[in-house]
Amino acid sequence: MSDKPEKFIDENGLRLDGRRVDEIRPMKMEIGVLSRADGSCYLEWGKNKVLAAVYGPRELHPRRLQKADSALIRYRYNMAAFSVEDRIRPGPSRRSIEISKVSREAFEPVVLTHLYPGAVIDVFAEVLQADAGTRTAAINAACMALADAGIPMKGLVSACAVGKVDGQLVLDLNKPEDNYGDADIPMAMTSDGEITLVQMDGDVTPEEFKQAIEMCKEGCRQIMELQKETLKNKFTKLEDVEISDDEEEVDVSALVESTLEPSGDDVEGEEESEDKSDDDADQEEEVEDAGEDSVDEPGPESEDDEDEDLDSVESHSDFEAVEMVEDFEESFTDVDEEDATEDEDDEEKA
Ligand code: ADP
Repeated sequence: MSDKPEKFIDENGLRLDGRRVDEIRPMKMEIGVLSRADGSCYLEWGKNKVLAAVYGPRELHPRRLQKADSALIRYRYNMAAFSVEDRIRPGPSRRSIEISKVSREAFEPVVLTHLYPGAVIDVFAEVLQADAGTRTAAINAACMALADAGIPMKGLVSACAVGKVDGQLVLDLNKPEDNYGDADIPMAMTSDGEITLVQMDGDVTPEEFKQAIEMCKEGCRQIMELQKETLKNKFTKLEDVEISDDEEEVDVSALVESTLEPSGDDVEGEEESEDKSDDDADQEEEVEDAGEDSVDEPGPESEDDEDEDLDSVESHSDFEAVEMVEDFEESFTDVDEEDATEDEDDEEKA
């Protein structure tokens, strides 16, 4: 750990990282970064790097934990073992359990949980790199992941900390300010300015506390702007995708047709397969049969009338599909029967 700096704020009113006292660290965020999660967000704030994932709403098991009138929100804040200079012991700690609880309570009031009785919404926040202010960073990311998951909310929640160094209040503490400062007050707020989280480590006067709230409000307002901007960008992009949906449909149907259409390779494959010896496995023959049908049906006169060919491919495709499914099912029946006979044989031998 670095030593305590002599001064946190220089004669020009600038902090060690060059920020003014009421300035937050640069922040950037991206949503939809995890394909398996229902919603996700990757957030960088100064040197903090946080990944949040949301799963749900989904049915809660065991059922005895279900709430009859609303969804249950579970939140897990975790610092990766490699997120700080010294290795952090993996698993929950007193600190992470406490942070998980207060952070969940920070965004829970805006989530319309009553719409999903009996369900659970799981929120995970993983701190990949920590540099002070990770609980607030995680709340910001978690809120974005919830929005990305399409979970109905009254509004967004943003979080930020105010601290005191050199007898002066500063917004969004960096690591040395957090470690050696006189106070650290993380807060979370809704877009209406309703405070949903306040913690305080250190001492401030009542006047300083009021001022801290005002500073935090401004910090949260800036963060909320970025959150809204990020969501808007995503949904504008989604609209673009919807416009190009028609093109995609054309592509897909063309792909289906080209798959059903016999290619030169298929025909060659068929000839080759006819040459194969009779010793081939039953299952293999069935697959060949299915292949023959699909090659024969559209007819070899494809060069004469392409349109007619396409029609015939379409008109036969359902029929082929049914046949293939039947063949496929039969192959299972055969295997089952064989298995059963084998079992009986084994029993007799025994
Ligand atoms: P926050 O990250 O929300 O400010 P703290 O004030 O508890 O939470 O922690 C301040 C910073 O101290 C963290 O961001 C992290 O960089 C560092 N830190 C916290 N816990 C540990 C730990 N167990 N080992 C090493 N560094 C830690």
